[in-house]
Amino acid sequence: MKDKNSNIAVLELKSFPVLLELLSQKGYDLYGPTIDNDSIVYDQIHTVENLPIGWKDRQDAGSYRLEKSNKETLFGYTVGSHSWKKLLHPANERLWKATADGDRFSIKTPEEDSGKRAFIGVRSCELQAMAIHDKVFTMGPYVDTLYQYRRKNVFIVAVNCTQPGGTCFCASMKTGPKAQSGFDLALTEIIESDRHYFTIEAGSKSGTKILSKLPTREANQAEMEAADKAMEHSAEKMGRTLNTEGIKDLLYNNFDNSHWEQIAERCLTCGNCTMVCPTCFCVNVEDTTDLTGQQAERWSSWDSCFTKDFSYIHGGSIRTSATSRYRQWMMHKLSYWVDQFGTLGCVGCGRCITWCPAKIDITEEAEIIRKK
Ligand code: SF4
Ligand code: SF4
Repeated sequence: MKDKNSNIAVLELKSFPVLLELLSQKGYDLYGPTIDNDSIVYDQIHTVENLPIGWKDRQDAGSYRLEKSNKETLFGYTVGSHSWKKLLHPANERLWKATADGDRFSIKTPEEDSGKRAFIGVRSCELQAMAIHDKVFTMGPYVDTLYQYRRKNVFIVAVNCTQPGGTCFCASMKTGPKAQSGFDLALTEIIESDRHYFTIEAGSKSGTKILSKLPTREANQAEMEAADKAMEHSAEKMGRTLNTEGIKDLLYNNFDNSHWEQIAERCLTCGNCTMVCPTCFCVNVEDTTDLTGQQAERWSSWDSCFTKDFSYIHGGSIRTSATSRYRQWMMHKLSYWVDQFGTLGCVGCGRCITWCPAKIDITEEAEIIRKK
């Protein structure tokens, strides 16, 4: 077993299933990466076999391909279009339901979602995105209690990213590739010519409890160095960088830069970038009634600042052009967000670049504006 004085332990591949079993025994439903529709998605998993064993992804602007790897990695991919946002801040959610009862009506809010969930394979950039959502949903004057309940019941197993994608730039955002905080357990997957193991460390009391029950041992110098090397290599391999120096004011000072119009000539205003982004959080709220008038419901659904209706107020939309909508999105991420929440709204996961059908690249566009 692990020496209690050591921070880093080693979990051999053959013992990895014990981690899943322990979490299940503690009442957690397991969610992790799995393959669906030729893509890595986050979904409920039950065993190690549900993980994308031996698969990796290849990503570039407007392009995503899943392919077989020559290694039997459990976490050898980067990230897919899904983020953990879909579980903590669902795409569609009923906020309340009203039922008529004679000349009165009763309102039911959703049961507090107290189900315990363990997220397996959370990347560092995604931990940072969750920290941003925590701020947005729970630390302002109005708390989203549904989010708060879900969030507090999550056990996070982070897996440090050893396979950054062609569109990743978390190293330049200082949000990865190594998980720094916000996890219960953090693993680094190491494959050597004759060994496959994980270094593992705890980041919380719950993590320490689980770790103490795992068949681990203290990591030796060579194993710790292998994990550090994997992280250094990962940071160097990152496909893109975003120069964030003075970015907030740079964009404020370039509100009328002609480059916004050039981006808009390519932008389809499809909203893909907002749907895949782990930090975008805007919703539309809609009330519905049934035909008998006996029941009414209020639903919250993900919305996108790329739609015309998003900025509709009495009399019409404010942002009628693609120019104004793209500018709003990028300036919110890199300028307004800083004023609102004290942090950038981008964690460098690269999803908006990969899943943009027009290959629009936030890192490239910011650089062009900087140079203009
Ligand atoms: S930037 Fe790309 S993904 Fe985003 S709305 Fe425009 S075309 Fe769609
Ligand atoms: S803006 Fe793009 S790169 Fe940044 S967090 Fe959102 S999807 Fe990821």
